[in-house]
Amino acid sequence: MGLELLWELQEKDLAIRALEEELENTPLLEETKALREEVRRLQDEHRGAEERFKEEKRQLRALEMDIQKKTGERDALRRKLYGGEVSNLKELEQMEKKLNLLIREVDQLEEAAIEKMESLEKMEQELAVQAEQVSGQEEHLQEMERRLEALQAELRERLEALQEEREQFAGRLEPQYLERYRILSQKHQGRGVARVVDDICEGCRVFISSKLKGQLYNPKAMVYCENCGRLLIRQG
Ligand SMILES: [Zn+2]
Repeated sequence: MGLELLWELQEKDLAIRALEEELENTPLLEETKALREEVRRLQDEHRGAEERFKEEKRQLRALEMDIQKKTGERDALRRKLYGGEVSNLKELEQMEKKLNLLIREVDQLEEAAIEKMESLEKMEQELAVQAEQVSGQEEHLQEMERRLEALQAELRERLEALQEEREQFAGRLEPQYLERYRILSQKHQGRGVARVVDDICEGCRVFISSKLKGQLYNPKAMVYCENCGRLLIRQG
């Protein structure tokens, strides 16, 4: 077995690692997460606005009932006051006072009801705009989720293919070389094997000694960089 196969194995492992990292850290994942939160926020906001709208509507109904009740009282009192049943002057004066009070009260209630109706109308318009925003962003999110899923599926497929290829390739290597590779890889963050290009160790960019250079011509010798300790592979 040529030691250069270990270099190839390392290339495959690095490609696998890069793909795993891409799968975990694809920007689309972060963007989708951010949009998901934004949509949730918009939905909450919209629900809150709908609740306030319902509450205002409920208040308007209460006002209308109040108006009906007070109007009834006012009209009954007016009939009584002008009906001639009561002749006591003091009592008549009191009734008149009460009637004026009721008239003012009904006026005030009606004004409040008009204000409430106007505010409800405005709220309804705002709710419609908001609903459109929410559904627009929901659609956008669905589209992004679809894209993310497709991307992840594609990356996973490529990763599985690479992993299978790697296993088959590793099966052709001798176990003691694989073990050595594993130890070196762990020690050098996945880059335990380095090529020598123009007498420079590609792992640490330092020139190798002429003694090592000579050893590299023996295809069976395991030669380690004197500077970084990586297993050296002669290029070409
Ligand atoms: Zn080195």
